[in-house]
Amino acid sequence: MVEDAMGSAGFVMDRVIGIDLGTTNSCVAIFEGSAPAVIPNRGGYQTTPSIVAFADGGKRLVGHIAKRQAVTNSDNTVHGAKRLIGRRFGTPEVRKMAETVAYEVVRGPEDEARIQAGGRSYTVQEISAFILMEMKRIAEDYLGEEVRKAVITVPAYFNDAQRQATKDAGKVAGLEVIRIINEPTAAALAYGFEKKINRNIAVFDLGGGTFDISVLSVGDGVFEVLSTSGDTFLGGMDFDNRLIDHLADAFHAQHGIDLREDRIALQRLKEAAENAKCDLSFKKAVDVTLPFIASKENVPIHLQQEVTRTLLESLVSDLVDRTIEICRATLENAGFTPSDVDEVVMVGGQTRAPLVQRRVEDYFAKPLSKGINPDEVVALGAAIQGYALQDESVDALLLDVTPTSLGIQTAGGGYSVIIKRNTTIPVQRTVPFTTVHDAQAAVKIVVMQGESPRAGENQHLGDFMLSDIRPAPKGVPDIAVSFSIDADGIVNVTARDRDTGREQKITVTVSGGLSEDDLARMMDERREYEVAERRDEDVQRVIYGVESLHAQIMEILPAAEPSIGSDRLHSVMKSLAEAKRSVSQRDVRELVHNRGQLQQIFESLQSVREAR
Ligand code: AMP
Repeated sequence: MVEDAMGSAGFVMDRVIGIDLGTTNSCVAIFEGSAPAVIPNRGGYQTTPSIVAFADGGKRLVGHIAKRQAVTNSDNTVHGAKRLIGRRFGTPEVRKMAETVAYEVVRGPEDEARIQAGGRSYTVQEISAFILMEMKRIAEDYLGEEVRKAVITVPAYFNDAQRQATKDAGKVAGLEVIRIINEPTAAALAYGFEKKINRNIAVFDLGGGTFDISVLSVGDGVFEVLSTSGDTFLGGMDFDNRLIDHLADAFHAQHGIDLREDRIALQRLKEAAENAKCDLSFKKAVDVTLPFIASKENVPIHLQQEVTRTLLESLVSDLVDRTIEICRATLENAGFTPSDVDEVVMVGGQTRAPLVQRRVEDYFAKPLSKGINPDEVVALGAAIQGYALQDESVDALLLDVTPTSLGIQTAGGGYSVIIKRNTTIPVQRTVPFTTVHDAQAAVKIVVMQGESPRAGENQHLGDFMLSDIRPAPKGVPDIAVSFSIDADGIVNVTARDRDTGREQKITVTVSGGLSEDDLARMMDERREYEVAERRDEDVQRVIYGVESLHAQIMEILPAAEPSIGSDRLHSVMKSLAEAKRSVSQRDVRELVHNRGQLQQIFESLQSVREAR
């Protein structure tokens, strides 16, 4: 174990986990020995639902346990948070999301989307942090040591705000995010790692909420992304919604009741639709059965409908078409035709659908690469990257690109591109700025990401204020503004007065981002929660001890009873009753006292029994 953790330089390195923070499911992996491996959660599952729920009494549930209670607590069960991260409240994507979820999406003070659940509002970063904390814990349980560092993956198409928000979520979760990498790049890394190949790989990634396609050239340990594109609002959830609408419309036509208006019914319908969709990847037809889904004049109504694969495929055909359209554009961007692609790697749960596989195979005119688990490959790649960043001797150089162009707003609402999309990152470009008035002291630079020539149609990243400009006639100050995109895909802007060599002061207001104060508060809350949780676990452990002693005593008591006097029996019964009471009151001191008592009673009853 110790040797595994040693770097080539001989010092002990921090372990870095790789986390695939998915819309629907998340997965954590670690590099051990000579290969990456997925770490199963407590229930033995390789992936954990990206679901956070707030139960009565303020208890927070994450993963399978949150998913299981979703039907009865849908208002306080948050899923799909990744679709909201780094987004403004008023955008069409957020509005659409708000319509389809049972929890409330609200406007935050910075105009960002927030989540209202469990009696308070949370930033999306916090919700994501709760999922990341769970992944961290899964890794810590497995490794038996604290984990501090992580590589987290994001869709290639995530913009600056979404990346920054994901990084902040990591911070809130108590993780140092040493790198953000793109999901398809991670998949290619896992696929091509230590294989002696020289090939062009297309990674087709259709997950629960997002679609990404990347084309990479892989060879000699270098993974170079040539072109990437995607849609952050196209995924398995949209497939589910088609089936939900179909089932609800049919039910409505038959019974005049719209199940979408009843939150609990809708939640049940959602689950049933997703299950049916997944089953239809392996079966030709399934029955969707939801007993007691509604009632009319106090008579229960059941939903019972057969769905065939053919029907499902007709409902989602245009969604699959969209993915192929995006593939076409991405290949064109890389100057490729489908025949230039040697391997097609499929990632994301939704790629299990036979229709998706068929269309992708048809488009690329070759069979899909086999032997890849679409749910795990991204986390495995993140673990490899984490390891490679710690140990320079590992052959894995990632050359990723920026998925969208970066530019600034120009006069009259125009947009001037500074760094073009698909440029390899990290990258830096310097642009000269000057003043338009005599003695002008400040210049505002509005930075955005997008491809539209109209500024208003692009994603507003933030305002950068150049201030304290030395007094001079207009046009004289020569300020070099450098725009850089780091290896995480995150934008930084710096400025320097070229005449004086002085760093120019820049104030940045990133839209919807977390302030340092916000971050500090959330990190404090996390620590408090962790302390409370640990205390809770300790109490639970003592309760478990008391309960199991209670059960053991009850088991041997009938046999021992004839040999002990009635006074002794009475006192045993009293101790048992006290133990029960302290379990329900969760009083640690009492519990520990009771545990001691029960232990003594158990031992003495056992010796009585043995003596007989
Ligand atoms: P991911 O974000 O990669 O975890 O993908 C989750 C999405 O894959 C969800 O929308 C799931 O419903 C979907 N999915 C999982 N298994 C299957 C399957 N067997 N067939 C079709 N879709 C699936």
